[in-house]
Amino acid sequence: MPELPEIETIKNDLAPKVIGKIITNVSFPLDSNIRILRRFHSTPDFIKELKGTKIQFLRRRAKYLVFYLIPSKSLVMHLGMSGQLRLKKTGTPYEPYTRAVFHFNNGTELRFIDPRKFGEIFLKLPSLQSSPLTLDRLGPEPLEKDFSITCLTRILQKSRRVIKTLLLDQKSIAGIGNIYSDEILFNAKIHPTRLANTLDEDDIKRLHRSIRKILKDAIDNRGTTAADKRYRDGLGKVGKFQKKLKVYQRRGKPCFSCGTTIKSMRVGGRSASFCTHCQK
Ligand SMILES: [Zn+2]
Repeated sequence: MPELPEIETIKNDLAPKVIGKIITNVSFPLDSNIRILRRFHSTPDFIKELKGTKIQFLRRRAKYLVFYLIPSKSLVMHLGMSGQLRLKKTGTPYEPYTRAVFHFNNGTELRFIDPRKFGEIFLKLPSLQSSPLTLDRLGPEPLEKDFSITCLTRILQKSRRVIKTLLLDQKSIAGIGNIYSDEILFNAKIHPTRLANTLDEDDIKRLHRSIRKILKDAIDNRGTTAADKRYRDGLGKVGKFQKKLKVYQRRGKPCFSCGTTIKSMRVGGRSASFCTHCQK
């Protein structure tokens, strides 16, 4: 699943190409029963709200990509397990599983491609005061200034969960998924099943540093295209961080630090890969 570094990369790639463009139409080539449009939109309403709007800027929040529009409303996308966004010239053949197409006024279009149908698209309208969107209930952004050691300490101390599960919880810290939780915990030398509230001051300092370091490195390397090969950046290319993974999808291979075989186990319903020697 694309996580914070992948969505950040896609946002950085797309922003210069779509800012200032006007959405002239929206179409759904495959599916009349549009599962990606969440809850409160009917397809005609969704199209009507978007037609004629101009893209003002893009932001990432957690794993969501948000297009801020004029007049004031936002178009929010979540790529789910395997979604991709491609900016293409109008008239070129659709890629398989192209589920939504946003047509622009300059002969290009943004295509939302989603083989496994876990993706979501929705509108945030100013008229909806307290919208039912998960976007409002997300935890802090780990690369923002206000995500301090104190902030992380508070999150850890009030938790009764294991650290791997806590890192994956978007309401605690935003944007981290299975790839980066494994890599962060390896970097911080913390075992994935440690209880979050048992981490001492040194553990927390290392964890804080590792969260920032791994996410920044992954952005610098344009994200991770893992074994499923699904992730593409905003230009349609694969990421580079898969070459730097230390534990994720390395089960059975030797640890780069100590040579011990990398293990994996189920933690809170997700797979965690780790080194039993390096991580305590
Ligand atoms: Zn090791």
